[in-house]
Amino acid sequence: MATAYNQTRHVDPDFETQLLDSIDKWIDRELRPVVLEHDHGDIWPEKIVAQMVDLGLFGATIGEEYGGLGLPAATYVKIVARICNYWMAPTGIFNSHLILALAIEKFGTPSQKSKWLPKMARGEIRGGLALTEPDAGTDLQGIRMTARRDGDHYILNGTKTWISNAIYGDVFALLVKTDVNADPRYKGMSLFIADKGLPGFRTGRKIAKLGYNSIDSGELIFEDCRIPADQLIGNIEGQGFFQATGGLELGRINVAARGVGMAEGALRLATDYAQVRKTMGKPIAEHQAIQLKLGEMVTRARAARLLTIDAAQAYDRGERVDMEAGMAKYFASEAAAENAQEAMRIFGGYSYSKEFDIERFYRDAMLLCIGEGTNEMQRMIIAKQWIKRNPAYNRSTHLPQPPQRG
Ligand SMILES: Cc1cc2nc3c(=O)[nH]c(=O)nc-3n(C[C@H](O)[C@H](O)[C@H](O)COP(=O)(O)OP(=O)(O)OC[C@H]3O[C@@H](n4cnc5c(N)ncnc54)[C@H](O)[C@@H]3O)c2cc1C
Repeated sequence: MATAYNQTRHVDPDFETQLLDSIDKWIDRELRPVVLEHDHGDIWPEKIVAQMVDLGLFGATIGEEYGGLGLPAATYVKIVARICNYWMAPTGIFNSHLILALAIEKFGTPSQKSKWLPKMARGEIRGGLALTEPDAGTDLQGIRMTARRDGDHYILNGTKTWISNAIYGDVFALLVKTDVNADPRYKGMSLFIADKGLPGFRTGRKIAKLGYNSIDSGELIFEDCRIPADQLIGNIEGQGFFQATGGLELGRINVAARGVGMAEGALRLATDYAQVRKTMGKPIAEHQAIQLKLGEMVTRARAARLLTIDAAQAYDRGERVDMEAGMAKYFASEAAAENAQEAMRIFGGYSYSKEFDIERFYRDAMLLCIGEGTNEMQRMIIAKQWIKRNPAYNRSTHLPQPPQRG
């Protein structure tokens, strides 16, 4: 029975403990031994994906009524951070899938929810989010892809790029223009559920990347593609921009959780290494220059975790968290990038060796500063929200008064 999306979620503490315990065991037994081989060969992790299906991760935040685990964001964050302590890429495979599911669960019609969500929760079909185009990333309202109504179908034309899960995924939340002349531009945007069975929908090239290997990033091409009108999310035109960005708060909390995991992971690697590597007759951890780095790294990792938990808990209470999610995303992603770079310095020459994990953290971490809203945009969003929440008249008595005339 389909119900309205409810952001307010709780989890039984015993269930959470058991779940996190099984994730930890899976990481130790299955994930850690295969990281280097998959990352270095940019191999899509088929067995790992099947295991993540069995763990229920493709339904982690989908409501229980659709067969998902219905987890609150605060629990989901702990799962993502644990995996990213060792390897970020697998979390990308289910993160963007869950953002697509969120768009359907939050804004879809009852029949769209019952058609798509149970299969997605079981991991039978997996998907992602197709917003970015070759000349429109940050400026989503500048996309060119169109959908023209034709009876009980729409005709799609355009290309999406940089789409996670493009090659191995089955279904995507597709942002298009249904009215290219709309003013303001966002009023002409709509979001479709586009599956690969549609005629005229094909996969383009896979993009070779600096890092974040093993997850496929690629192009999706639509040429006179006929899509049934009932695959328009919510069956309403003009809501696409709002629907696509409606999942961004959880998306940003996801990315923050990845940052926490990576900042802590880089710290763990550096801490271990600094205690066994010796120079001048003592472990480098006893040199003050290394201690200064570790001191900063552990503080950053801790602050990133606290900001992320704070944002996730506020989200679970049903609050609007664009500022909190933005702060967590911004700080935790920068913490991951800075800790990875500092860990490289602590590893010295060995940081450059492919035999160690730290070079992967260095390559992967930078993506977090770009995806899900660049950190330049993030700071602007944080500032705008901060100003909005603090109108000057609240504190006018504390402000210096202009000099009186006469
Ligand atoms: C590995 C990877 C995976 C991705 N996965 C997906 C996915 O699954 N789905 C998807 O839709 N997209 C995905 N993307 C795309 C990603 O969301 C975009 O790259 C990102 O939004 C930035 O857009 P852009 O690359 O077009 O940069 P641009 O928008 O061209 O920005 C370039 C620079 O200008 C700055 N800038 C832009 N506008 C402003 C402004 N108004 N004020 C100040 N500064 C500004 C930006 O901060 C940035 O520094 C992925 C990207 C990567 C690298």
